Amino acid sequence: MKKGIHPKTNYVTVTCSNCGATYTIGTTLSSDFQVPVCYNCHPAWTGKARDLTRVSQVAKFLERQKKAQALREQKAKGNKK
Ligand SMILES: [Zn+2]
Repeated sequence: MKKGIHPKTNYVTVTCSNCGATYTIGTTLSSDFQVPVCYNCHPAWTGKARDLTRVSQVAKFLERQKKAQALREQKAKGNKK
């Protein structure tokens, strides 16, 4: 390995803010950090859908989608007269 050109490797703790799992990784970052999702709880690995109603922004979006769908159906009925 050539000297003086490689960044320093630090071992930091990564915490998943969704499930609370912790991992120790080698990185150039110097302090511990959090990730919003990890392989322990991500739907791609668990095969289960997350409860999206817990996340308020997503809940609001789903609510808006429902309203839009209702409006679309109302409009479609109105045009068929
Ligand atoms: Zn996780």
